[in-house]
Amino acid sequence: MSLPARSAISTQSITACGSNIDIRFDNDSKGLSNDVLTNWIKRASTAVCTYYGRFPVPQLRLQVQVRGGEGVHHGVTYPSDNGGLIRISVGATTTESDLDSDWMLTHEMIHLAFPSMAEDHHWIEEGISVYVEPIARVQAGQLTAAKMWHDVVRDMPQGEPESGDRGLDHTPTWGRTYWGGAMFCLMADVRIREQTHNRKGLQDALRGILNAGGNITKDWEIEQAFAAGDKATGTHVLSDLYNEMRDKPAPVDLPALWQKLGIQRAPDGTITFNDKAPLAKIREAITGPMK
Ligand SMILES: [Zn+2]
Repeated sequence: MSLPARSAISTQSITACGSNIDIRFDNDSKGLSNDVLTNWIKRASTAVCTYYGRFPVPQLRLQVQVRGGEGVHHGVTYPSDNGGLIRISVGATTTESDLDSDWMLTHEMIHLAFPSMAEDHHWIEEGISVYVEPIARVQAGQLTAAKMWHDVVRDMPQGEPESGDRGLDHTPTWGRTYWGGAMFCLMADVRIREQTHNRKGLQDALRGILNAGGNITKDWEIEQAFAAGDKATGTHVLSDLYNEMRDKPAPVDLPALWQKLGIQRAPDGTITFNDKAPLAKIREAITGPMK
């Protein structure tokens, strides 16, 4: 007869650009060390602080369960009184290098930086996390721009409307929720930069929403969030794009967009950049440091 694996609960608090992260580890005896897990949490919070200029909520409770297979699984983010709660699982056989390339915890922390939406608008919550996560990691020096665009070019077509699509607010499929939302963000980023001579981007809009108080603890209308974002860029891009994409399919010619941005994908998947492409400067600014 063998006893069930003993589970050890321990806690630790760290700070992330001025906010508190209270971590609760539920770690079995074979599991990863808390130091390795804490480094992973610090990397994710550094990416989020870099993108937003601050941590999105004053306090985060983070519950890490070490269980299941290799890798990071089942991240979920909830609002709580003074900030947010994230629950996430890490397999006991996960390596440090798995954690170094993890995207999921950064994705979850980005959910803290946008107000809570009604169910019809779940696509914007997921779309922002999908779109911003690799950009934040590039800006924090954790990922290369070539790797980021490689994955974006490969995965973004999953966000295109299929037959019968009724727009982002009324087509709650996986593809439209995650990648359709991300496609909205990419279109918004490019259009804000085109209209502002590349002086502003989606990053300014999302910081503007957060700085207007729009974090996960607030229930906002989507129009309110987009108005705050548009105010920060001096444009109407988010509101206009929402009107274009909310209740009709609005497909995007992604191959043409990659060409304009100067992103070339070889048959083996390798990405090269064409710096003479018409929107090459916009491509560089998307992952470049905040001006
Ligand atoms: Zn998510």
